[in-house]
Amino acid sequence: MKLFSTISRRACLLILLSAACLSATASHRDDKPKKPPRGAIILFDGKDTAAWTAGGSKPVGWKNEDGVLEVVPRSGSIVTKESYGDFMLHLEFNLASMPGKKEQSKSNSGVHLHGLYEIQILDSIDNPTYKAGACGSIYLQKDPDKNVCKAPGEWQTYDITFRAPRFDSDGKVTEKPRVTVIWNGTKVHDNVEINGPTHAGSTAPMVATGPISLQDHGCPVKFRNIWIRPIKPQSAPTLPP
Ligand code: MG
Repeated sequence: MKLFSTISRRACLLILLSAACLSATASHRDDKPKKPPRGAIILFDGKDTAAWTAGGSKPVGWKNEDGVLEVVPRSGSIVTKESYGDFMLHLEFNLASMPGKKEQSKSNSGVHLHGLYEIQILDSIDNPTYKAGACGSIYLQKDPDKNVCKAPGEWQTYDITFRAPRFDSDGKVTEKPRVTVIWNGTKVHDNVEINGPTHAGSTAPMVATGPISLQDHGCPVKFRNIWIRPIKPQSAPTLPP
């Protein structure tokens, strides 16, 4: 009996040690950037910001150190030089720790699809804000189905599939854009129709192709491993607006 209990104690210890090792390996693995798939266009892999400007010919004013791109507050949002129609976009972000701030001032940034539709970035841990203003929201249009926000210092992922609007031969929108967002591995928007530009009061027209923009909202949010994979339209090809 005593022998049996010694063996089972050892077995328990081994199981606990293995579980601890596995969990340490998993969190270590999670911290590594996801490898871009074949055919992806690299927008930022730590080397340079050649794919971006700060609008027009203005150079990027953000910090690029140790493979990480960091918002330098008030240096301006950055925008890709190229435009895209339908696409899959992957990016990783890391919130800034701003304990003295709250609501929209707490680690705010965002990803603008076609330069028009923002998927919000915000410290949404114990930080209530207005409807469709939290991290993961289609800004001012829809909250994420679930809040899976991680703390500042931890890397988070957005995997965004975007379907551009469709136009008829007169340039009239026949189908609005749609978006699926997978945030930290959880689907939080599933092929959701976007009503229009998300900036409050914006009357900017929808476009068939547009750039990706990352927002400077005055908070030193970090980014890494950004790539895009254009998707060939399956139906009703987009026309120039
Ligand atoms: Mg924002």
